[in-house]
Amino acid sequence: MAVAAPADTGDLVRLVRWAAERSTPLIPRGAGSGMPGGNVGPGVVVDLTHGFRAPPVVDAERRTIRAAAGLTYRDVNGAAVAHGLRLPPDPSSGAFCTVGGMVATNAAGSRSHKYGAVRAWVNGLSFVTADGEAGHSGTAAPRHRKTAAEERFEAEVVPWLRSAGPALERARPATRKNSSGYHFAATDDALVRELLVGSEGTLALITDVEFRLAPLPEEPSTLLVTLRSLDDIAPAIAALEPFQPAAIELLDRTYLDFVRAAAASRVPAETEAVLLVEFEHVAQEAAGALAAVASSTVFAASAEAASRLWELRHLASPILAGLPDGLRSLQVVEDGCVPLARLSEYIGGLRRIAADLAFEIVIFGHAGDGHVHANLLADVRAADLAARLERCLGETSELQIALGGTTAGEHGDGRLRAGWLEPRCGATYVAACRRVKHAFDPGGILNPGVKLPDPGGPTITAERLKVGAGAPAVPEKVAQALREIERTAAYGLSRLDLLQP
Ligand SMILES: Cc1cc2nc3c(=O)[nH]c(=O)nc-3n(C[C@H](O)[C@H](O)[C@H](O)COP(=O)(O)OP(=O)(O)OC[C@H]3O[C@@H](n4cnc5c(N)ncnc54)[C@H](O)[C@@H]3O)c2cc1C
Repeated sequence: MAVAAPADTGDLVRLVRWAAERSTPLIPRGAGSGMPGGNVGPGVVVDLTHGFRAPPVVDAERRTIRAAAGLTYRDVNGAAVAHGLRLPPDPSSGAFCTVGGMVATNAAGSRSHKYGAVRAWVNGLSFVTADGEAGHSGTAAPRHRKTAAEERFEAEVVPWLRSAGPALERARPATRKNSSGYHFAATDDALVRELLVGSEGTLALITDVEFRLAPLPEEPSTLLVTLRSLDDIAPAIAALEPFQPAAIELLDRTYLDFVRAAAASRVPAETEAVLLVEFEHVAQEAAGALAAVASSTVFAASAEAASRLWELRHLASPILAGLPDGLRSLQVVEDGCVPLARLSEYIGGLRRIAADLAFEIVIFGHAGDGHVHANLLADVRAADLAARLERCLGETSELQIALGGTTAGEHGDGRLRAGWLEPRCGATYVAACRRVKHAFDPGGILNPGVKLPDPGGPTITAERLKVGAGAPAVPEKVAQALREIERTAAYGLSRLDLLQP
């Protein structure tokens, strides 16, 4: 309907009050690199990348950084590195994803294996509520009074949450990562802060964040491991854990097939999976510990040798950028996370579901967390595309749930997966989420339909897809520019600028 680009918190407060009076939905948006459709929708898109860009402030002694919502991970980490520090969760979209988007999705990265997702690194945050009030939580809060939204939450919801505690605890997946649903912290002082992290713009608009920082590693090293069977993944990870890896990344056979020509000389034939393992010390002995499971290992201690090993992980980007126009890489079932012991079953199931529905699939990701990304390669001219994608989403979500997993490890529910929250977590958990939503946003103006679904039919229809014959028409020049952004991962470009004559 419209796009608003507030310059500062005062502007944002006025915008939210205007929207609240008219019951107009607001869709908070950072770089727009989020995958499950939390950053688009009917209403006013609130682009937080034009304002909210004040330079970050590092407190090297306290090891913290204060960063405005419109800055990118790269801005934040770059400022920290200048002080010998870093923000450890390292999304691979770090060059463009914003502080607001990262915190709103509880983003993670390869090093989250050792350091957890973003939530663990947020000390405090500032936000604007659905009533149009500026609020602060955690270290940002001391001199500030609570907002009306927090008071409603504490009076109406917290006692109920505490009494429902055991049932809510049982609803949590037994996975290392999860960015689906709302997060309920165990202690009252962390409740609001940890709830807003991962709330995908449905509870408040985040304007500013204080992160904790960690020292830079002294002697990083990398190990490349090839495996002949998916069943070797879990034993290999168990053998690696004593060496405290920061990251254990997977390239599945489907990925190796996709980059076949470029990868052939780098891994033995009949490799089913590659693990790329990052340590923060020289961990040469780790290779020996894998003797019983690995078909080969290559160790790299120098930065140069390590970056040659990691090249394997980056081979897909140029191939994806060169796909012919009818063929697209689609993220629909891209974020499932399961208990580690079920990972090989999950990967096998993903391969089977994709083959049954005539999609090529490319699987890679964070093996050490039981969390893999799965991109579908689809001919978007096919008349039954939407129906096959909907089936793929349904069958994959059922598989994730059956394996004790979650539909979203780090990208969130968005609109795409909102309908799978109740099948995964049950009615009590969803009732808790609805109470929280009502306390923070009684008028339902913040990202309605995200996380908690609107009632309705199938999630994926031809009209809701951004590709294919039913996709909404946009001017040819804009369509080409959007395609180029996707090809080159140039999500840092403001989409508003594409409309300039
Ligand atoms: C190539 C590529 C690689 C990626 N790699 C990773 C990865 O390694 N790890 C990972 O976790 N994700 C990854 N992602 C997904 C995405 O980059 C992350 O979810 C990121 O955190 C989103 O940031 P953004 O600024 O693009 O947010 P957007 O996409 O604009 O928004 C995401 C969600 O956050 C909400 N939101 C945004 N800003 C605010 C705000 N200020 N206040 C309240 N709500 C807000 C939106 O409403 C939406 O629901 C990747 C994406 C791409 C395209």
